[in-house]
Amino acid sequence: MRGISLALTAPVAYPMLPSLMKAELISIGTELLLGEILDTNAQYLAARLPPLGIDLYYVSKVGDNLERLTEVIERAWRRSDLAITTGGLGPTEDDLTREAIARVLGEELSVDPGMEEQLRAFFSRRGVAMPERNVKQATLIPSARALPTPRGPAPGWWVEREGRVIVALPGPPVEMEYMWEQQVAPELERRLAGRRTVLVARVLKTVGLGEGHVDELVSPLLKSTNPTIGVYARADGVQLRIAAKAPTKEEAWRLIEPVEAEVRRLLGDIVWGADDDTLEGAVGGLLRQHGLTLATMESCTGGLLANVITNVPGSSTYFRGGLVAYATEMKIDWGVDPEIIARHGVISAECARDMARAVRERLRADIGIGITGVAGPDPQEEKPPGTIHIGLDAGFTEPQSVSYQFAQGREAVKRRAVTTALALLRRTILDWQGRPAG
Ligand code: ATP
Ligand code: MG
Repeated sequence: MRGISLALTAPVAYPMLPSLMKAELISIGTELLLGEILDTNAQYLAARLPPLGIDLYYVSKVGDNLERLTEVIERAWRRSDLAITTGGLGPTEDDLTREAIARVLGEELSVDPGMEEQLRAFFSRRGVAMPERNVKQATLIPSARALPTPRGPAPGWWVEREGRVIVALPGPPVEMEYMWEQQVAPELERRLAGRRTVLVARVLKTVGLGEGHVDELVSPLLKSTNPTIGVYARADGVQLRIAAKAPTKEEAWRLIEPVEAEVRRLLGDIVWGADDDTLEGAVGGLLRQHGLTLATMESCTGGLLANVITNVPGSSTYFRGGLVAYATEMKIDWGVDPEIIARHGVISAECARDMARAVRERLRADIGIGITGVAGPDPQEEKPPGTIHIGLDAGFTEPQSVSYQFAQGREAVKRRAVTTALALLRRTILDWQGRPAG
């Protein structure tokens, strides 16, 4: 669908922008201050400025209040070369972004007849009359031009004066992201071309070693300034960020390449992926590569492992299925040895290994995984919350298990157990694969 037509943007020859742009983001909306929604717009934009060579110095959140909004935009206009606002472009009384920008620049708002026509056409295509309130979405000030949008009724604004820029984008993420990708990023790219430093980064993801240990392994490289290396602990393992600056993305990637190769050499097979890779995707790739099938029996994780495994497209080629055996009788019904439960309790490594064996046999898979433990907050069978036992049973190697205790609330306990199970599965396949034949 066309929406507001592209004809709104006249092909004017705009001057180049300052080569070192200092930027700030302003997220507008009272919902943000009340904690009702997360500021994902700022997160989205923040990640996209460094590759353009733009330095982000401030991120602010402000409610739908004309005084305070004006104050924040005024300050941005004084101290930054580029301010990007999101939100407050709608037709309602509390959508005040245009008014605030007009105030800061001391310019008059007026309805643009071309924009008004487009806006009315947008509504008539939907078979409804345009509420008169919406007219304000067709207003401009002399320093602003419209950023058209096919995804919604409200055009954004590109405001430029005295070499400084304010970009006003809509609040709904789909509209905001589309306008950023289609209009704002290309315009910034064009007008900064050749006179900037871009920052790109490769993230390497590891599992199996702690932050300090990983840091130590790569310590010979940590003094490097371009690229720089940072080590961070995340929920699914330790990550390493290799970031480089150069005049072009290509040159920056060339700086990263040899360092990445060296980091991979130093860390070996604890690296399971990069950038947007997921652990479940990496493990799925290994299972597929070796033609192995998997089945799961979960107690305290309630099916979360099966859920995560099946988030990967194509998982049906290796995942046979999963059983959620929450009650002890269900574990026994599905083939766990009551003797083992009587001797060691359901919350034990022995039980987890037998769950793995039982489900592997019952679902006719190459590998079975069993998870049992205490999600919390209360202890169970005198075991403290966060006690987890993960068992793995495969025809090609001895039964394995991992046990630990780590309580950070039910959901975190479940998530950590799933990550640990995937890491155990990965480790088992890698060790088996690396073993000399015979
Ligand atoms: P509309 O025409 O829909 O009113 P708008 O430009 O006026 O658009 P807002 O009214 O400020 O935008 O926000 C509309 C919706 O967009 C919010 O209810 C929220 O769902 C989403 N939104 C706004 N700001 C953000 C943000 N910073 N991060 C994530 N979502 C946001
Ligand atoms: Mg609104």
